[in-house]
Amino acid sequence: MIICVNNNKGGVLKTTTVTNIAGVYASQGKKVLIVDADNQSNVALSFGLNPDNFRTSIYDVLCGGLPPEDAIISLQDNIDLLPSNRDLISFEFDIIGDIKSYPEPFLLMKKALQHLKDDYDYILIDTPPSLGLMNGNVFTFADKVLIPFVPELYAMRSLIEVIDTINDFKEEYNPELEVLGVLGTLVNMQTNLHTGVMQETKRYAEEKGVYVFDTIVPRTIEFANSVSYHKKPATLVTRKSLVGKNKLNYEKANVFYDVCKELTLLLEGNVVK
Ligand code: ADP
Ligand code: MG
Repeated sequence: MIICVNNNKGGVLKTTTVTNIAGVYASQGKKVLIVDADNQSNVALSFGLNPDNFRTSIYDVLCGGLPPEDAIISLQDNIDLLPSNRDLISFEFDIIGDIKSYPEPFLLMKKALQHLKDDYDYILIDTPPSLGLMNGNVFTFADKVLIPFVPELYAMRSLIEVIDTINDFKEEYNPELEVLGVLGTLVNMQTNLHTGVMQETKRYAEEKGVYVFDTIVPRTIEFANSVSYHKKPATLVTRKSLVGKNKLNYEKANVFYDVCKELTLLLEGNVVK
């Protein structure tokens, strides 16, 4: 199963969602590959690694024909990473500037990675916040899209854009691609604005046949804390590893376990949209 986490905005918890979902599934014994398709390399940073130290990356796989196995690293039990580094910044320029060498520019990722599908229970793709060649590759390769969504003013407009864009794209390049659902993030349900926008989102999504997660990810410092103090996503910080270190509020940090419960039900087709 290949799930990408996408939104055309930055700072909506794409990377947090990818890394924490990976943490949940890995702790349940599933094998996960994270593909970092964003040149910010925040997945590696979330695990305390410096992307400048990667000699090879997804760039070499997509543009240079390197077998992905040669760039993939193990982050911990059950979690591998195909990392990005700063080489990826010039990805679009390099491909478009040499389009003769890349006659099928949207198929680079699918061709390079599809044989890995059988090696992992989940391939999770972190994406950049733009609609460009990279996300074209991601949408051609993925089975499902999960959309993190901050219920701010004007956010509905951009959510509609994201869903319409994906639907247009899929018609032409990947008819199997499905918007799995919209996940409310950085939500403050004490705010009328957030409550209102979430309700409006549900109404709109229902019309479009798009699922909105019952679970919401509240605004909390726990996720930044876990990365900065523990060098890993919150769902991988165990009670044992906390001894003598910065404490973690488990109730808040464990919200991604609820997200994954819903996600699994959705993937099994056990949720009515
Ligand atoms: P994106 O990948 O969409 O740009 P990130 O996942 O990197 O977004 O999150 C943006 C910032 O928000 C990061 O600094 C992250 O540590 C912080 N963050 C993550 N989860 C939460 C949360 N629940 N509440 C507040 N801040 C959060
Ligand atoms: Mg990110």
